[in-house]
Amino acid sequence: MLQQTQVKTVIPYFNKFTKKYKTLRALSKTNEEEILKMWEGLGYYRRARNLLKCSKKLVKDYNSKLPNTLEEIKKLPGIGEYTGNALLGLVYNKPTIALDGNVKRVFSRNLNKEEKKIDFEKLIYKNKNKLLNTNRNADFVEALMEFGALICKPKNPNCLICCLNRTCKYFKSSNKIRTKKKMIKNKNFDIFCYINKNKQIALTKKKQVSFLKNFNLPFIKEFHSSKNKNWKFLKNYKNSVSNLKLNINLYYKFSNKIPPSFSWYSLENNREFIPSFTKRILRQVSTLF
Ligand code: SF4
Repeated sequence: MLQQTQVKTVIPYFNKFTKKYKTLRALSKTNEEEILKMWEGLGYYRRARNLLKCSKKLVKDYNSKLPNTLEEIKKLPGIGEYTGNALLGLVYNKPTIALDGNVKRVFSRNLNKEEKKIDFEKLIYKNKNKLLNTNRNADFVEALMEFGALICKPKNPNCLICCLNRTCKYFKSSNKIRTKKKMIKNKNFDIFCYINKNKQIALTKKKQVSFLKNFNLPFIKEFHSSKNKNWKFLKNYKNSVSNLKLNINLYYKFSNKIPPSFSWYSLENNREFIPSFTKRILRQVSTLF
């Protein structure tokens, strides 16, 4: 849950999940629809799907126990190098460093060297006696991440109160490196909504754009075209999804005929999981009635 998401946002979801699924086995027995519904509003839904797959695999292949080597742990769905190292440190107190964006920035600033010019693995290996020489590895993994998030922040690092400022090259240098910015892409989309007099909208899981694969969505086309003659323009609005900033033109058409891969959904009473991206569209289309 914490990947790309702040702790304060995660807390209510975490509490809800742990209340509902008291054991790994209980979690593994649920289905994708239910997990997505529980995850609704948290975004990056691939994490929810992977969580379910991961719990099933742990129960089936690992006797409900998290493996304790990086090689094994990385075989689990959704667990890569970073999460694997974080888990080994936090769960098994193993000497590891979970290299997320925050931690890389701390190293890069201390050396006053751009991230892309640093071989982090080599750096850690070379300094392992200094970096990984503690019995409190779990605390160390956590502390490094928090340090990057709270003290050595992306913007305006708190150098004056930082315990590393006596040795930090960034702090001392008159020629400070630039901090890597998060890449945001701008994209334009036309969204076409078939609607009918029964206050329904046609949605499909097929032929969708990659950032929202396998979700119920209206028909989406990249690039704005001015030749959408058969469709009525409803609204232009902005929406952010992952690292994308979307500029959206919303169109609609009353029609009882819809392409075969589409199905009708009520604009008002949906019990199914619908991502917030689609919910926003539903809300805007509802204003037509
Ligand atoms: S002195 Fe400043 S730049 Fe250096 S590690 Fe501390 S907060 Fe980061």
